Amino acid sequence: MADLTLESPVQYVKGAGPARAALLERADIHTVADLLKHLPRDYQCRPEVINIVDLREGSESAVCGIIEKITFSRFSRLPRLQIELADSSGCCRVIWFHGGYLRKQFQIDQHLLVWGKVQSYDNILQFANPKFELLKEASFDPRQAAGRIIPVYPAIASLSSGMFAKLIDHALNEVLSLLPEWFSPGYRAARDLPSISQAYRWLHRPGSADEPKLARRRLAYDELFLMELGIAIRHWHTRHTEEAIALPTSEQIEKRIRARFPFPFTPGQEQVTAEIVADLASSRPMNRLLQGDVGSGKTVVALHAVLLAIANGTQAAIMAPTEILADQHFERIEKYLAGSRVRRVLLTGGLTGKARSELLAKIAEGQVDIVVGTQALLEKDVLFNRLGLVVVDEQHKFGVRQRARVRAKGTAPHCLVMTATPIPRTLALTVFGDLDVSILSDFPPGRQPVVTSLIPPDKTSEAFDFVRQQLQTGRQAYVVYPLIDPGDDQAVKAATDEAARLAQDVFGNFSVVLLHGRMTSREKETIMGRFRSGKIDLLVCTVVVEVGVDVANATVMVVENAERFGLAQLHQLRGRIARGSHKGYCLAFARPTTDDAQRRLDIFAATSDGFRIAEEDLRIRGPGEFFGTRQHGLPQLRVADIIEDMDLLRLARKDAFEIIADDPRLSHPDHQVLKSALQSQFAQSLELIDVG
Ligand code: ADP
Ligand code: MG
Repeated sequence: MADLTLESPVQYVKGAGPARAALLERADIHTVADLLKHLPRDYQCRPEVINIVDLREGSESAVCGIIEKITFSRFSRLPRLQIELADSSGCCRVIWFHGGYLRKQFQIDQHLLVWGKVQSYDNILQFANPKFELLKEASFDPRQAAGRIIPVYPAIASLSSGMFAKLIDHALNEVLSLLPEWFSPGYRAARDLPSISQAYRWLHRPGSADEPKLARRRLAYDELFLMELGIAIRHWHTRHTEEAIALPTSEQIEKRIRARFPFPFTPGQEQVTAEIVADLASSRPMNRLLQGDVGSGKTVVALHAVLLAIANGTQAAIMAPTEILADQHFERIEKYLAGSRVRRVLLTGGLTGKARSELLAKIAEGQVDIVVGTQALLEKDVLFNRLGLVVVDEQHKFGVRQRARVRAKGTAPHCLVMTATPIPRTLALTVFGDLDVSILSDFPPGRQPVVTSLIPPDKTSEAFDFVRQQLQTGRQAYVVYPLIDPGDDQAVKAATDEAARLAQDVFGNFSVVLLHGRMTSREKETIMGRFRSGKIDLLVCTVVVEVGVDVANATVMVVENAERFGLAQLHQLRGRIARGSHKGYCLAFARPTTDDAQRRLDIFAATSDGFRIAEEDLRIRGPGEFFGTRQHGLPQLRVADIIEDMDLLRLARKDAFEIIADDPRLSHPDHQVLKSALQSQFAQSLELIDVG
């Protein structure tokens, strides 16, 4: 038979055979390489083997002996399998309660290694339910005398951990030297990483408790490094092969733009504006993520960039996730641009027929400077004349694919993605790995804090009294529900039910209106318009208000069944009432029934720091769910954990970016192993450009 390679089908591993191979296949273990990647989930420590005569009650010990007697007492109070084990020094008892299933495994005269805690019963030393290993050879191998760390593999179907240990052991002997090594000894030494073959040996055959940890670090590094390498290539590519129109500023332009704002920029706004201005001055397309909590003044920063694009004779597009938000943006821009010559239009899905085609013609001819809209701007018939800048608002889900699509129109526009959902740095480096990140960390002066209280069930009517007082002083309020319609769970309140009740019984003298996600956008817009102009006092709603809606006079929010909402979602909701010069009040009605829910709510009440909340949210929910990372085409990480391995991620990122800066196409002979690893593993999921 030919020698085993990493690509050999797993069935050729000694001891596997077609039947076990079929089981392995079902678990996605096809090749020898796959088998080696079936990593232990844990390790057991086996103490050094000693003589039976030296056993002491209460100690953790291991002994090796010959089976002299086997008895099975089925009918005793506790059915048990009992063995008498003897070595040259003495004899002890080994018991397995309910051990009937083991009967077939043991025979007289076999060599058996057992380890566990030593007990004394009836003055005889014994092991009860110990770990054990049957030794094939009649003679005891001295290597087994030493204490050992034993890998515990995740069992699959009828393939036990022990079976995996055997298969992997056989495979390891033959292929260890074939594992492709990505890094030179010097590179590894500088980062304290073992070689790849060392790492696999340490994982599968550890000599000490530390070795699996060091080995795991190497595999995690490799995973993160490969991911970042893909990101680095994409990053390099967009910056070096795509041409954008350079949009330089000047003192005069700056003066004209600043005159549009009735306030000076905050230091934070100055800082990120400077970063954006520097990007725009270059003919490499900007790809920047602007993060800032709700109300930190992102829109103002974005509008500054938009006006700079227009000053340079190009067009700008502003894209919002919903029509309500597009509307609101347009209104806000109107406020700042009143009386200016800047030509701005709102392009929404509602616009059809002749009106739409006329507008599209104007945009295509360059008779429009700013186009505000939704994702409808990505449609094929929307062509720009000279698109300099795209601003994408509140859309952390605006992925690579969509960015590529706006880019496809003419030259690549500069791209500014804004989000008020604070993204933990760790994720920003992965999910948005090819974006540069700016963080707006201060707030415009005079912003009032939001007071958050958790309201237990017996205090809700007092809370509603408080809301009523606030309405009486002229403020407006939201009451948010997790559901639109009542569901099976009686404990969860629904907006439709409660709107009627609140309107009649609780807020009789006020205008109470229902808003939810199943209404048409026309209906929603009408209601939002009336709320904004103060005709509605209290809006009963579902999470439709979550993102971006901005009514400065609305300062009170009740969240019903707050335990049903995610932490980030609660924070977003609260952001709605943090906008004006009035103090905001968030009353979270909560009946937490799990520890997780309690923890979420406690954090929510304790801090309004969006980044802290995002980190906690990530911790509670895990990165997979945080954004639906799969959607972003991130490779799945098997070993690395982007929360726990954040330092390693930083290191891997730095390394990957340095390599790509030197050798953007990975054409150096030393990089061929990396290049093929990249192509085979992540080519599709990272939507890599052709690195060849
Ligand atoms: P974001 O988009 O980050 O939620 P906005 O840009 O909408 O924040 O700004 C929030 C509010 O603060 C708006 O009413 C805006 O006019 C105001 N604002 C923004 N920047 C400043 C500033 N530098 N000084 C005073 N008010 C500001
Ligand atoms: Mg905004």
